[in-house]
Amino acid sequence: MTHPADTHCPYCALQCAMTLTPTIGTTDAAASASPDAHVHSAPVTVEGRDFPTNRGGLCKKGWTSAELLRSPSRLGAPLVRGADGALHEASWDEALDLIATSLRDIRSEHGADAVGVFGGGGLTNEKSYLLGKFARLALGTSRIDYNGRYCMSSAAAAGNRAFGVDRGLPFPLEDLDGADTILLLGTNVAETMPPFIGHLAGAQAAGGLVVVDPRRTATARLTDDGKGLHLQPAPGTDLPLLLGLIHVVIAERLVDLDYVASRTVGFDRVRRSVATWWPERVQSVTGVAALTLKRLARRLAAGGGTYILTGRGVEQHVDGTDTATAAINLALLLGLPGRLGSGYGTLTGQGNGQGGREHGQKCDQLPGYRKIVDPEARAHVARVWGVDPAVIPGPGVPAIELLKLLGVPDGVRALMVHGSNLVVSSPNVRDVRAGLERLDLLVVCDFFLSETAALADVVLPITQWAEEEGTMTSLEGRVIRRRRALTPPAGVRDELWILHELAERLGSTAAFDTDPAVVFEELRLASEGGLADYSGIDYAMLDRGDAAYWPFPRGSRGTPRLFADRFAHPDGLARLVPVTVRESARPAPTPGTDEITLVTGRLLEHYQSGAQTRRVPELLESQPEALASMHPATAERLGIGDGDEVEVVNHRGLVRCRARLTPDIRPDAVFLPFHYGDEQAANLLTSDEVDPISSMPEFKTNVVSVRRIADAASVRLPEETGVLA
Ligand code: SF4
Repeated sequence: MTHPADTHCPYCALQCAMTLTPTIGTTDAAASASPDAHVHSAPVTVEGRDFPTNRGGLCKKGWTSAELLRSPSRLGAPLVRGADGALHEASWDEALDLIATSLRDIRSEHGADAVGVFGGGGLTNEKSYLLGKFARLALGTSRIDYNGRYCMSSAAAAGNRAFGVDRGLPFPLEDLDGADTILLLGTNVAETMPPFIGHLAGAQAAGGLVVVDPRRTATARLTDDGKGLHLQPAPGTDLPLLLGLIHVVIAERLVDLDYVASRTVGFDRVRRSVATWWPERVQSVTGVAALTLKRLARRLAAGGGTYILTGRGVEQHVDGTDTATAAINLALLLGLPGRLGSGYGTLTGQGNGQGGREHGQKCDQLPGYRKIVDPEARAHVARVWGVDPAVIPGPGVPAIELLKLLGVPDGVRALMVHGSNLVVSSPNVRDVRAGLERLDLLVVCDFFLSETAALADVVLPITQWAEEEGTMTSLEGRVIRRRRALTPPAGVRDELWILHELAERLGSTAAFDTDPAVVFEELRLASEGGLADYSGIDYAMLDRGDAAYWPFPRGSRGTPRLFADRFAHPDGLARLVPVTVRESARPAPTPGTDEITLVTGRLLEHYQSGAQTRRVPELLESQPEALASMHPATAERLGIGDGDEVEVVNHRGLVRCRARLTPDIRPDAVFLPFHYGDEQAANLLTSDEVDPISSMPEFKTNVVSVRRIADAASVRLPEETGVLA
């Protein structure tokens, strides 16, 4: 295959369009003839392609994405752990036979729920769909969930509660171009998805770009022209900040009363719930000046096109659903959702974080965003699958609970992992690692020997994005085509094929097709009539470049803009839901001690657990290690200098890294990126406490101490040093 292929970036949910061109003269045949053909694809060049989200632009992750196709560390054959404890290459038949035999044994001894499946928000829609079907029919287990639980669950729960549906952006991204005011809550798009900032230019020029972040990030610096606004609240105080904004909007009669009366229910309860959040009280809690709060509320209500957008910074908390709900309440009171030129949305992070949560990877869902406990939904999907509805297991448990069941009595004895690097990306990774080590069988599908794959009993090497066909759903809810540009190396396989082979070996009579086009046709049927209805979408229209926003019922033209006339609740009205601050929601630093709040997040150069981007030389060279960013005043108080080796420590674990001093962070916080593994894994320190509604863990505010390593030896806890030895 030597012709160019139009596809999209493998990383984030902006899904920037790109064209991949195999280098002239290096055909697949030539590549296959090379001595290392079992590992390497042919070289390929990457060019940005014009598309509404990226307008031809790519970030450095996108520009360098093709390097992974030929990475020397790419896996080229299945690996099976031998009696000597090491991983050894094996044939596909050996590896698959071993997995199937082990799974059968575990199921017959411990029951079907002793097998768990952990999926990922980077899998194509076809893989996500088939993985959910595989878990429920071929394995018969209810225990499937995925890493989207770490990034989108709270926003999804809040959206479902308020609007009756969860689509990250209920409008095309280009709608932002005409905005006068954009409020960005806890999102650093300038680093996580740089081409996005082109859509902020209008609001920036109008002096209406407002960034809420405890760090002065690259996105916050877009307001440095003095026209916009950067609010730097204390970590973990986003909810009081939003309650204060709602208080001002109500107190200053800025509410769009016609909209609230005709399109929402619940105003009185929300009004009462914010009565005590007057601006001066909010100032004392958040550190944001009362006057600034009032100015912002007035600006948001000024008309001319206002958007409120949330990201993980305000969502990855034990009260993330309530915080996202408060942002939605604010938007509803201002009459934004569904109004052309205004709106509310949340920015999905992972490449297919949107589609990945629609078609059955979540423990409580069936395809089409159907509820697994709904008898009608079960009957519909059972018809498509050709089974009795009773065969489909009931709801399983969300990701963190699933991980806590690893290797415990009546828990999970075998786990299949697709598209996740659990021992880097999960909270409290020390316990996750211990759970994985207790398993009878751990199977990991990956391109590389990630930190999680290195613990597996069987590692299955899989195709990368440029070697496969399928669909993704962008942060706008737009379904797009992933196109194959290259023939994969001989030793790797597509996960659809892997699921097919395993289902056959497990004796499943259900269909597990290996052709993505056929799987998508089945997905269309399974999703038909659901909230995320894809039944009117087909590969041909996607190949033509038609814009396909779900819901897209058969015979319709899709839905670029949701909520224009009604919300998705049966009565068509949005729910204003009162939320309150739970003082005990998360631990706070003890006054009078050296404790400080740890904020975790991302860097421009790396994506998620870094399993891919840490293997791209340019990206690794640019950001080779985790640095603990702290304010110079804090560093001085702790006796830490720029570049000093430090330990960031709490009762869960310890991270060793160097300090980076910057005035861009509040003195009461320290920042660690979460892209690194082993002793630099920020998630050694994060809590696996979860939001009670969404089951999303608390990634953003955890209590730690920071010490120079030279000063720290005498106070290190023995079990923490043992873990890291
Ligand atoms: Fe890829 Fe996201 Fe960068 Fe675009 S912004 S090139 S989708 S990583």
